Amino acid sequence: MVTRSDQRFLVGLIGAGIGTSMSPPLHELEADRQGLRYYYQLIDLHDRGQTVGELLAAARGLGFRGLNITHPAKQEVLEYLDELSPEAAELGAVNTVVFEPGRTVGHNTDRYGFAAGLSRALPGVPFEHVVQLGAGGAGAAVASALAAAGVRRLTLADLDAGRARRLARAMSVHPSMTVEIIGPADAPERLKTADGLVNATPIGMEGHPGVPVAPEHLHAGLWVADVIYRPLETELIRAARDRGLRVADGGGMVVSQAAASFRLFTGRTPDEPRMISDFARLAGPGGRHV
Ligand code: NAD
Repeated sequence: MVTRSDQRFLVGLIGAGIGTSMSPPLHELEADRQGLRYYYQLIDLHDRGQTVGELLAAARGLGFRGLNITHPAKQEVLEYLDELSPEAAELGAVNTVVFEPGRTVGHNTDRYGFAAGLSRALPGVPFEHVVQLGAGGAGAAVASALAAAGVRRLTLADLDAGRARRLARAMSVHPSMTVEIIGPADAPERLKTADGLVNATPIGMEGHPGVPVAPEHLHAGLWVADVIYRPLETELIRAARDRGLRVADGGGMVVSQAAASFRLFTGRTPDEPRMISDFARLAGPGGRHV
């Protein structure tokens, strides 16, 4: 039997258009099993007419333990924080804020989320050369995770070449990985010699149908990862599966970033396999829209 703790955790998510977020049930189901009193509140920027700074100050005043931060506020929130974790400082983006006594600290759990999801879905895959499409917020977490996973050569393509250049500069803290920047049109050529492909663009998510690279360029032996989780099976993931390739969908990243945030908020170790089962149930057929 679970013994209920008297400690209360009030947490939440700040972002825009977050009404269908799965974060509340993902966090609260795990907290319930751990016997915690834990409330996860959605705070939608569209409904509030307040800045991230004002919402942060209000949440702190009301006794929140912390907040998750999502699109479009992951960078904007930086100016309201007293301290950054090393991951958040490297990526220049924060998805988790913790209210410590006398200071507000920003963390980034997206990098851990991608790394954990990838190693669960694709254990033992080769990492010598990876092509990554998209150098935005998710792309920064992906590139950093790939460097830590042992990628030696990263080929990076973004429609916005300036974004790709900025990310390549940020990755210079990982001297074991060389970063080459190409235009998206050159991705098929580079894929010929690559071990893996990661999609960190929005192409394939709801409202952005399509594939970021034509399926005929997915060669035998390539592994394919997507950060998109709405839907879980993107056109790219489906095309790769149809070709018999090993794939990692965006669900692993979203669950593991939530698990890492839960740990930061509570100091408790979440049971990630259990949270993955929750996610599968919530996102699966007849489940909640993610
Ligand atoms: P973003 O806007 O910050 O970055 C997207 C980048 O992709 C932009 O730089 C854009 O120029 C580039 N791009 C768009 N089309 C392209 C193309 N055809 N070729 C090359 N580059 C292209 O967005 P983001 O916050 O990084 O989010 C990207 C996706 O990742 C979204 O679908 C989001 O839902 C998803 N995401 C998933 C997780 C997760 O936990 N699984 C976390 C964060 C974001």
